[in-house]
Amino acid sequence: MDCIFCKIAAKQIPSEIVFEDDKVIAFHDISPAAPVHILIVPKQHIESTLEINSSNSSVISHIYETAVQLVNSLGIGGDGFRIVNNCGKNGGQTVDHIHFHLLGGRNLTWPPG
Ligand code: 5GP
Ligand code: ZN
Repeated sequence: MDCIFCKIAAKQIPSEIVFEDDKVIAFHDISPAAPVHILIVPKQHIESTLEINSSNSSVISHIYETAVQLVNSLGIGGDGFRIVNNCGKNGGQTVDHIHFHLLGGRNLTWPPG
């Protein structure tokens, strides 16, 4: 399958990995939008939030557990941070393998563009 994030998970494309286990991989975004910009991605190919169902949803809670561990290890919990999942064209999704942006290290404005 020609999927960038499957290839990163399989180490066929290099990335700056910050965490990995059997279910997820987390790595620095190639084009950071904040001082902390990490992508947390399930190793299983799930196209988008629209594909989440009772058989695969446990990986989403695991992604949030991973995010909290990263937040704590980076020491950004006190100042706050944002977790973003873009879905589809209007949501701004550009890679069709579900992923969660962990953003922090600066004051993030709201609403998003
Ligand atoms: P989306 O726009 O789909 O929510 O987010 C995709 C993200 O993946 C973007 O922030 C983009 O910079 C990042 N990205 C795209 N290709 C690569 C890559 O090859 N390596 C890394 N580390 N990040 C990538
Ligand atoms: Zn994939």
